Amino acid sequence: MNFRFPSTFLAACLAASVCYAENFDVIIRHGRVVDGTGNPAYFADVGIKDGRVTAIGQIAGAANAEIDATGLIVAPGFIDVHTHADEVAEQPRAENFLRMGVTTLVVGNCGGSALDVGKFFREVASNGISPNVITLIGHNTVREKAMGGSFDRPPTPDELEKMKSLVDQAMRDGAAGLSTGLIYLPGVFSKTDEIVELAKVISPYDGIYASHMRHEDSEIYAALDEVFRVAREAKVRAEVSHIKLSGEKAWGKADDVLAYIEKARAGGLDITHDQYAYTASSTTMRQLIPDDAFDGGKDKFRKLMADPEQKAKLAARMKEKIRARGREDYAYAVIASYKHDKSLNGLNIVEAAKKVRGSDSLDDQIETILELEQNGSASGVFHGINETDLQKFMQHPNTMIACDSGLREFGKDVPHPRGYGNNARVLGRYVRELKTLRLEDAVRKMTSLPANTFRLKDRGLIKEGFWADIAVFDPEKVTDPAAYNDPHHYATGIPFVLVNGVSVIRNNEHTGAKPGRGLKR
Ligand SMILES: [Zn+2]
Repeated sequence: MNFRFPSTFLAACLAASVCYAENFDVIIRHGRVVDGTGNPAYFADVGIKDGRVTAIGQIAGAANAEIDATGLIVAPGFIDVHTHADEVAEQPRAENFLRMGVTTLVVGNCGGSALDVGKFFREVASNGISPNVITLIGHNTVREKAMGGSFDRPPTPDELEKMKSLVDQAMRDGAAGLSTGLIYLPGVFSKTDEIVELAKVISPYDGIYASHMRHEDSEIYAALDEVFRVAREAKVRAEVSHIKLSGEKAWGKADDVLAYIEKARAGGLDITHDQYAYTASSTTMRQLIPDDAFDGGKDKFRKLMADPEQKAKLAARMKEKIRARGREDYAYAVIASYKHDKSLNGLNIVEAAKKVRGSDSLDDQIETILELEQNGSASGVFHGINETDLQKFMQHPNTMIACDSGLREFGKDVPHPRGYGNNARVLGRYVRELKTLRLEDAVRKMTSLPANTFRLKDRGLIKEGFWADIAVFDPEKVTDPAAYNDPHHYATGIPFVLVNGVSVIRNNEHTGAKPGRGLKR
């Protein structure tokens, strides 16, 4: 007998030999349940009533809605702890996420969030959204608010107090914790003391500190030390966002890095990590330009560009920097979204330089990068991660699966494919094809692990009494057709997705339903 009957209700059902279908709004029948714990899959029907799973087992009769999951996996809806879907109240369908099985989004990452978290949750509630959403409060957001336009300095005591009170207000309004983006403006200019002080504010609320660290290359150990120090001194748990080793010089160290984190955990810290399943990253092209060119904002950069001597110095430093990283050119950097000249989207910097300047010399590549920034900036895709490291990070039991993507507008620009494919890629490429992970472990990394880490009550498992956030997928077919050069394809093989017991994806189509909620801490 393959069925499990964990509930007292089901015990009563068992006595009567079957459960009665009229007790349910939805029944998902004949599927194999991968419940999110990491335990082996088992065959069972899943009954849903008033938004929650109320029975797991053999269920007879008919309900208002039935889903035939024969040959399919029934899993908890995926929880993506690292997204940039901050505009979800304005773009409530979130189809790129739902179509890859994601039912709960964490936003406010990499130091950037809504400043007014209370207002964020009010807008989510009044507009209605398809997935659930949680937000962090962003360090860069509060630093910018408190310090105005001059950033390359520590805050004054008054400014620090202002930042702390903004973080405190956000936590009282329901934020789940604090995020930093320590390669971005203006956080790049902050010292560790400042982050410790802000993290102390979230500690009494049991908030989490999520960090896009200062370094993700061979200097990663120094960056981890900073995360550990924040966790230790502020007494908070910490999440290393999108863990990776960027650039050939850093490759091959995944085992060392994981051992380094394990050592910190053994010393009493609670450190976890998340990762996307791609060997390219994505962020603004501005990251290729030294940070100090932007202290004081865009005006300073414009002035600098107008001064030939200073501009030449900046270009010379960029040349030094790329060579120091062991690279000959910028072919690894591909333009994803450039409003000023959309014909460059999808070209790497070498190709773009050739197109706009008639030459792809390193000088012309650097000139092209500076032009992108002068003409309103561009986002990019950067091919700089090694497959072996990626798989080692993925196999670690404390690594969650998170895409680091925003909401996608279908057909717009040439964005990183992770926003369409991440979870499907893990289930297709890394579970089915490469066997890097057991199916049950992969699902755990997308469900109960993130739910526990971000303290989500009653989510992340297929369990009686838990919210019915559910992804139903075909383990033989789930695939990520989104490619770097052709990203606008939804994940396939995930025909049914429910949020709070309501179908949001039915037979591979968005139903238009908006059952999602803002989940306050
Ligand atoms: Zn980031």
